Amino acid sequence: MTVAIGTNSAAVAEAFINNAIARRGQLAKRKTWRPASELAVDLGTANTLIFVKGEGVVLNEPSVAAVDMSGNILGIGLEAKRMLGRTPEGITAVRPMKDGVIADFHVAEKMLRHFLRLVIDRTFLRVKPTVIVCVPSGITEVERRAVRDSAQSAGVKRLYMVSEPMAAAIGVGLPVETPVGSMVIDIGGGTTNIAVIALSGIVCDASIRTGGDELDQAIVHFMRKTYSLLIGEPTAERIKIGLGSATQLEREGEMDVKGRDLVSGLPKTIRIDSAGVRDAIQEPVSHIVNAVRRALEMTPPELASDVLEHGIMLTGGGSLIRGLDQRLMDETGLPVRVDEDPLTSVVRGTGRILDDFTRYGTVLST
Ligand code: ADP
Ligand code: MG
Repeated sequence: MTVAIGTNSAAVAEAFINNAIARRGQLAKRKTWRPASELAVDLGTANTLIFVKGEGVVLNEPSVAAVDMSGNILGIGLEAKRMLGRTPEGITAVRPMKDGVIADFHVAEKMLRHFLRLVIDRTFLRVKPTVIVCVPSGITEVERRAVRDSAQSAGVKRLYMVSEPMAAAIGVGLPVETPVGSMVIDIGGGTTNIAVIALSGIVCDASIRTGGDELDQAIVHFMRKTYSLLIGEPTAERIKIGLGSATQLEREGEMDVKGRDLVSGLPKTIRIDSAGVRDAIQEPVSHIVNAVRRALEMTPPELASDVLEHGIMLTGGGSLIRGLDQRLMDETGLPVRVDEDPLTSVVRGTGRILDDFTRYGTVLST
């Protein structure tokens, strides 16, 4: 979806943000008769999605838990996200998948079990399902065990794992099983993952700990430095979605931002524009661009020529920053495309593996 942001387009920006946010919460909560017998799970740093074969994406919630001082989990997913920034002191948000690895085992296990149960218990006819979970490509054996344990205690019969870049590549429709090299860049919340894939394997793979969330933090910092305005990360994310860009826009936009004035301590509204926001996020955006350049330098020459011919596929929520594809095209000279639904490509890819085990079975591990 593209939205033109004009000078007087605060309303358009607002509608765009609300639309983007609504898409997360609108998924089916209804009970069905059909048992969820084959599931695909994308355990992302920002969002967890679950796909049920024959139904599509049935769960899409933030990968967050609200935890009190003694480590008790008070809420998981949407429930926890709503608590953030509005809770009494002592309750913190834990993102267990933080930097593309399992940063907090205890919480990650509980979160995965909670989400799986939500889907499995949703059906009246219950069966023990087969599940494929996408895991970061550098996952350790200990982390695999944590995934296995939580799946087992959620009632999973058979568990497979697939590495995230592979699932993303399948989800965006790249010919992963052929000898032709394909490059996929997945810009998630906590990480950006760049991979070249051929013959059902990952040929090279680079990951940096910069993703969409770092852009939010850069905006918080910018608002404080430039306007002495204190805002929370959810507000910063709304600014990013509404106004963020990686290249100059044909029509720049503006929006009003509410926060707390650091000098007076009182609530205040400030009008900001997209050029300012572009400046604010310039540094993390450059980190992403530089990582792509480095990955291209590391790509074996035969595959690099495939990438030159077929281009780079961008996915993950962070790829929705306006003009990022253009910026990457300018800096690498390669064709760059953004997937049409980048927030679901990993889980869709995993769903395709469920649909076609004979074609994709070799990408799975246990
Ligand atoms: P992960 O796979 O790590 O869970 P996602 O692929 O779900 O991450 O992407 C989440 C990131 O994408 C967040 O940082 C979020 O702010 C960002 N994002 C989502 N929608 C947009 C948008 N329209 N424009 C810019 N960034 C977006
Ligand atoms: Mg992801």
